[in-house]
Amino acid sequence: MGKIKLMPDNLANKIAAGEVVERPASVIKELVENSIDANSKSIKVELAEAGLEQIKIKDDGDGMVEEDCDHAFFRHATSKIQDENDLFHVKTLGFRGEALASIAAVSRLSIQTSTGEGAGTRLELEGGKLVNKTKSDARQGTEIIVNDIFFNTPARLKYMKTIHTELGHITDVLNRMALAHPDVKFVCFHNGKQLFQTSGRGDLLQVIAQIYGMATARKMISVESSSKDFHVSGYIAKPEVTRASRNYISTIINGRYIRNITLNKAVMQGYHTLLPIGRNPLVVLTIEMDPILVDVNVHPAKLEVRFSKEQELFELIKTTIQSAFRKETLIPEAPEQKRPVKKEHSTQAAFQFYEEREQEAHQQRENSIDHLLQSAAGPQESNPSQTKEQVEFTETQNEVIKEIQKLDQTSESPVTTEEEKGSELERVPAMYPIGQLHGTYILAQNEKGLYIVDQHAAQERIKYEFFTERLGVVENEVQELLVPITFDFSKKEALRIEEHAEELKKVGIFFEPFGENSFIIRSHPNWFPKGFEVEVIEEMVEQIMSDERIDLKKLREEAATLMSCKRSIKANHYLNQQDMFRLLEDLRKSTDPFTCPHGRPIIVHFSEYEMEKMFKRVM
Ligand code: ADP
Ligand code: MG
Repeated sequence: MGKIKLMPDNLANKIAAGEVVERPASVIKELVENSIDANSKSIKVELAEAGLEQIKIKDDGDGMVEEDCDHAFFRHATSKIQDENDLFHVKTLGFRGEALASIAAVSRLSIQTSTGEGAGTRLELEGGKLVNKTKSDARQGTEIIVNDIFFNTPARLKYMKTIHTELGHITDVLNRMALAHPDVKFVCFHNGKQLFQTSGRGDLLQVIAQIYGMATARKMISVESSSKDFHVSGYIAKPEVTRASRNYISTIINGRYIRNITLNKAVMQGYHTLLPIGRNPLVVLTIEMDPILVDVNVHPAKLEVRFSKEQELFELIKTTIQSAFRKETLIPEAPEQKRPVKKEHSTQAAFQFYEEREQEAHQQRENSIDHLLQSAAGPQESNPSQTKEQVEFTETQNEVIKEIQKLDQTSESPVTTEEEKGSELERVPAMYPIGQLHGTYILAQNEKGLYIVDQHAAQERIKYEFFTERLGVVENEVQELLVPITFDFSKKEALRIEEHAEELKKVGIFFEPFGENSFIIRSHPNWFPKGFEVEVIEEMVEQIMSDERIDLKKLREEAATLMSCKRSIKANHYLNQQDMFRLLEDLRKSTDPFTCPHGRPIIVHFSEYEMEKMFKRVM
C-alpha cells in the first residue's frame, strides 16, 4: 500500500497561507492589491488591534458576480492570468490566485460584493469552509472583513509581536501602496482613529506630504528621465533630509512597491558624498518598464523581483539623482534648521518614534500604545462626533493642498535647460567675505543675506574634487623618493598586500618585499601630498585590510577624502580677505559645493527676511 496521499484542499490552503499570510500587514497588502486590481478609486481600511482582531477593507472597484465570488476562494483561482504566456506580461498586482484562499483558511472571513447590477453576494467562511451564503445589496464594490486571523494556527498567532510592531508593518505597507497609487484615495483607521488619508488626486507630491508631512514634501526635488527600456520619475529629498533607516527609499515598478538591493544601491550612489555617513535619504521613485523585463514571480509576496537589464536601470537611477542635485542649490536655511520639529500628521514619523521607543521600553509596550497613537494623530478630544484631531487633520489637509498648489507654481519642471536654471556658478551665488569668526567660519554676504561657511569643510570639498580628478589619472606619474620608505606589517597585512599587489600598482604603489613582512617603497604617485606619504600609504593598506574585496574606485576616493581632509585648512586658522575670497570662488566652481565629502553641510544661509523676522522688523 502506498503511503502518499493528496492533501485535502483545506490543509493545502493552510500550508500555503504560511507563505502568503505572514502577519496582518501581509493580509492587508493582498486585499488592498486586489482592490487596486479591481480598478478601485477609493479604498477604506479599518483595523482593530493592528488587524489581529479585525481587518475591514472596502473598495469601490469592479466587484464580482456570484459565480466569481464562489470561485475566488479556491486555490489557484484567478481572473488575472489564463496561460503561461500571460505570466510574462503581468500588469496586475496579483496573479497567483492564492491570497483569498490562504487568508480564508486561517481566519473567519466575510465578503460582500456586487458589480452594481442586480443583487450582490455575501459569503461567510470559517477556516476556509463556507458557513453561510446570502444575497446582499447592489452597491458596486467589495467589502471584506477578516476576523480573528490565525485563530486556527495558534503557533503563528504566538509569533505576532506587539500591537504597535504589527501596526508599524501595516502602516509601512499602506504608505507604500498609497505612494505607488496616487490616483487611489486611501483612508485608514486604527481602533477608530484615523492613521492617514490620501486624496487620490494623482499627485505624488501631495501623497508624500500626506504621509511624510508637509515640511518634508517641501524639500523634495522632482526628477524624471528615461533610457531605452526604462522611465523613472518621482521625488528625491534634498540631502539635508536624512533618515537613520533605509526604509524611506521606495521603489515602485509598474505600480508595485518592491525591495531591491541594486536599486537601493543606485539611489545611494546618486547621493554619494552628499549624505552624512550612516544616514539614508528619503526617495520615492516610480519606474515604468515593459513587464517582460521584470520577473515578479520570485517571491510569494512579490516583494522581490528580478530584472533583465538591471545595470541599465542602475545607471539611469544613479545619474538621474546625481544630475538633479547638480542643478539644485542645496544651502540649508539656518533658522529652519533650528526650528523645533513641528508636529505633523506624519504617520511615518510617528512610527519611527515607535521603533525607537520599542528598543527602550520592552515592558511597557502594551500600556503605552494608546498614548503613542494619540501622539501620532495629535491631541485627542472626547467629543465623539467631530473630534478635535479630525478638525486639525482636515485643516492640515487643506494646508497641504494649498502648499502643494504653491509648490506646483514654483517648482521647475524636471527637465530644465541650463539657461533656465542659470549657469552652473549660480548654484552658489557670488558672496563677499565680511570676515572670519573664531578662525573657523567665513562670514559672507550678498543681496540675499548672510552666509556662514565652514572653511575647513569648504576646502575639503574643493580638495576632494581636485584629488578625485587627479586620482583618476595617476598611472604613469610617479615620483622617485630620495630615501626609500620602509614599512613593517603584520603577517596578515603582508599577505593581503601581496595578494593585492596588482591593484596597488594601479594606483602607483609598488611594494617591494624586504625581508619578512617588510616592504620598501621607492616611488609614489605625483599627487601625494608632501609630508603625508607614509600616512596615505598606510591608509590605503588599512582600506585593503578592512574591505574584503579591493575596490579601486573606493580606494581612490578614500585617498582623496583623506588627503582633502589632511591638506585642508583647519579650524583656528587665520585667513585674510583675499584667501577667503579665493576659497569662496573655488567652492562655487566645485561640482558638489554644498556638503563636504563626509556629507556635512558647508554653507548655511540666513535670508534677509529671516533676519528681519528675528529682529522683529517684520512680523
Ligand atoms: P489573484 O489576485 O492572484 O488573482 P486572489 O486570491 O487575491 O488571487 O483573488 C482571486 C480573485 O478574486 C481575483 O483574481 C479577482 O478576480 C477576485 N477578487 C479578489 N478581490 C477582489 C476585489 N476586491 N474586487 C473584485 N474582485 C476581486
Ligand atoms: Mg490577489
